[in-house]
Amino acid sequence: MNTNKLLQLQTELHAQMRDGDLLDKACGQAKHYLAHSYDRHVAPSREAVEALAGFNESLPESRGDPTAIIEQLHTIGSAGTVCQLGGRFFGLVNGSLMPTALAARITADSWDQNAVLYATSPVNAVIEQNCERWLKQLFGLPDTTVAGFVSGTSMALLCGLAAARWRLYEKLGTDINEVGLAGAPKLRIVTGRHAHSTVIKAIALLGFGTQNIEWVEVDDNGCLIADQLPELDSRTLLILQAGNVNSGGYDPIRHCCELANAAGAWTHIDGAFGLWAAASSTLSHLTDGLELAQSWSVDAHKTLNVPYDNGISLCVDEQAMTHALQNSGAYIVRSEQRDGLLYTPEMSRRARAIDLWATLKYLGREGVDVLVTGLHHQAQHMARAMTQAGFKVVNQVVFNQVIVQLDNPATTSAFTSHVQQSGEAWVGTSEWFEAPVIRISVCSWATAETDIQRTVAAFEAARSAICK
Ligand SMILES: *Cc1c(COP(=O)(O)O)cnc(C)c1O
Repeated sequence: MNTNKLLQLQTELHAQMRDGDLLDKACGQAKHYLAHSYDRHVAPSREAVEALAGFNESLPESRGDPTAIIEQLHTIGSAGTVCQLGGRFFGLVNGSLMPTALAARITADSWDQNAVLYATSPVNAVIEQNCERWLKQLFGLPDTTVAGFVSGTSMALLCGLAAARWRLYEKLGTDINEVGLAGAPKLRIVTGRHAHSTVIKAIALLGFGTQNIEWVEVDDNGCLIADQLPELDSRTLLILQAGNVNSGGYDPIRHCCELANAAGAWTHIDGAFGLWAAASSTLSHLTDGLELAQSWSVDAHKTLNVPYDNGISLCVDEQAMTHALQNSGAYIVRSEQRDGLLYTPEMSRRARAIDLWATLKYLGREGVDVLVTGLHHQAQHMARAMTQAGFKVVNQVVFNQVIVQLDNPATTSAFTSHVQQSGEAWVGTSEWFEAPVIRISVCSWATAETDIQRTVAAFEAARSAICK
């Protein structure tokens, strides 16, 4: 090893750290992107996508030019994005972001904190603790609830179901961490026919076996029918949904939780985007009884419009959560304070709660209410405008999701591509009771009246072009 070369590298990096030009450049590019994200085509143009081939370079043999690297991201990269920040992206369930959170994230990223332990990041631990407290207030959850800050709801589901597995087995006298599923009696998994695909994934990953799921029939908005629940018992994990990914529908939470609690079952609520109804002054009836469950999974990067990757796992049973996610080693020195790794499957991770903290601090309770209630309001507006334009809306718009079914469902895919390629709006497809449909998820703070009008106009243009 040539130590001169190491010295050279260090000298170069020290100079970059000191002068800050690169960061100024990156911030300048970011400002440009934010300022132009509301009037541009939502989908990238074909030329912009083709230009992404500019990234297909061979691995460099030697050091590059930092300025050119950052510029390449802007000149080739920015144009190759689907613009999810504006008011006309309705695919998946996708939040936008707020400048306060982005700025907080840039600040926190410059600290490069490992959120693993209090010892490695007191600031992260304190902010996580405050986020946990604020979330409990917003959702009205029991005092003993603990929060883990994870990448998204997929991971939060895994945490919640793992906690359930640990506790249900503990009550049967089995330490599941030690014995493993092969040596343990079977648990029962009960969920609605419309459970999200990541619920099924978590069930599979945790070894429960998807063939063991006891499916419960749903109503015409995709909500579990309580009367159809099988007899629950103390070996049952019941998984409810607050926000059907297509219709936005809510399972009857209070009634199901009461039955589950009386039977000694564990209830997990998947509320990836829908749990936020609990923080709305007019929509909280949707999540009535929420506090009776034992664990919850929710995203900050959807309804709350926090940047990716931001999910939260919540559990009323701290012992079950921390035992399910147990981790130890002589070099992992715990403190009397909050050690983040106890509540997540990950060990090292970025201090993502800071993005969430900044968003909550900016919005306040009232701002969260305005945002969540506003998404519902705009979704209702979208549904009315679509109906007036002669499109069939097939769900009850209880929250932020609108499902449109074409007269000729066979044209759904071509129709949706036409809308996407127009650059006017971005919507995705799905299936609703086995028929192809178009999903419109109103999830960005930015969606305004004009965005709704432009989206309806793009639908009308697609109808003229495709559905003759
Ligand atoms: C999005 C979603 C998930 C998965 O969340 P990710 O953050 O994408 O991992 C789970 N359940 C529902 C209902 C969702 O909408």
